Amino acid sequence: MIVKTEIPRQPEPIHAPDWSAVRRDFPALAVEVYGKPLAYLDNAATAHKPQSVIDAIVRHYTESNANIHRGSHYLSQKATDEYENARKTVAQFIGASDREIIFTRGATESVNLAAATFGRRFLDTGDEIVVSEMEHHSNIVPWQMLCKEKGAKLRIIPVSDSGELITDNLEAFLGNRTKLVALTHVSNSLGTINPVREIVAAARERGIATLLDGAQAVPHLPVNIRELGCDFYAFSGHKLYAPSGIGVLFVSKRLIDELPPYQTGGGMIRRVTLERSTFDDAPGRFEAGTPNIEGAIGLAAAIEYVQFIGISHIAAREQELLGYANKKLADVPGLKIYGEATEKASVISFTLGDIHPHDVGSFLDREGVAARAGHHCNQPLWSRFGVPATTRASMAFYNTESEIDALVEGLQAAVSFFS
Ligand code: PMP
Repeated sequence: MIVKTEIPRQPEPIHAPDWSAVRRDFPALAVEVYGKPLAYLDNAATAHKPQSVIDAIVRHYTESNANIHRGSHYLSQKATDEYENARKTVAQFIGASDREIIFTRGATESVNLAAATFGRRFLDTGDEIVVSEMEHHSNIVPWQMLCKEKGAKLRIIPVSDSGELITDNLEAFLGNRTKLVALTHVSNSLGTINPVREIVAAARERGIATLLDGAQAVPHLPVNIRELGCDFYAFSGHKLYAPSGIGVLFVSKRLIDELPPYQTGGGMIRRVTLERSTFDDAPGRFEAGTPNIEGAIGLAAAIEYVQFIGISHIAAREQELLGYANKKLADVPGLKIYGEATEKASVISFTLGDIHPHDVGSFLDREGVAARAGHHCNQPLWSRFGVPATTRASMAFYNTESEIDALVEGLQAAVSFFS
């Protein structure tokens, strides 16, 4: 078994694939619900997995299952190599080095890891952390808790009526007590693609650290960590066509060695006596216990799949689907879309007259359309818009125009039914 020493960034395929053939790579898309073909429009919650990811996990369990890092036998070495190769695959995908990649359970744990370690090391009473009104709860609550613990203050960048960050007076948020700016790269409800490169640059100029929540960005647009310039970047495997229970926290090399351990125990130590312990170097220092080995292997297979299609082709196809959906949804009476940013990913949150979003979601479900109804872990955002919930349709490259037609027909039928 040879560990890949360096994986160069994969070149994009020149041509877009045949999208109907691509769709056949995802067995779950062929499921029927209530005797109808499934139209899966809940990709912002989780995405389906291509056969190559399913096969990679089965192959791992049938051919190389063992615990990693601690064994001298063949299978343990093989599993360790696969796990560490997965780290390299993740690193090259986002333009990082493998020492900067920490495997976590998902974006939520990634933000918690950042809050616990950065907070313990750098935050003092009276300091400030900046988030925005459009953050997922995963990028609010850990900072709220940390601020409470440390006597620090959480400051909030507001959102405009069109669903964009109001950054006119960004400087007012970047004061000499500001320690960190933590923002979502792409909003999970509004679809807004935030101008994070500019915001990160403004923070960096003032010596302020930055975290980007990339859970909704990495599956849908090319992400290059060096171009973004952030200190932390968090995302989940399961939205990127990989298994659940695996995620990533990128931590820049200028910061990673400064951070104290997160969880402690086996796997992250160098030497333990009954009096004290010393710790492994990063990234192992942040991965206590047996990690999600098969998850990391599945994530690498998913990234290889995405690179085989080409992330730019994925982004372009999803923009096509978004344009088509916007045009078609304009024909549905009483439909109001939240989030009309110029730069927007393929997520559409809407209300339908005064029909409750949960009723809309249940009605669509009976038509075979899987959309999500609720607050989508964005309660502060919906308070700002004055609605308790919305229905959300979120598209991936494997969706089709006819699935969007099914959504639109379902909504039109819902309007007739509820009136
Ligand atoms: N941030 C954003 C923007 C998200 O969309 C999500 C998932 N809905 C998360 C964080 C949390 O991801 P996970 O539940 O996979 O930890």
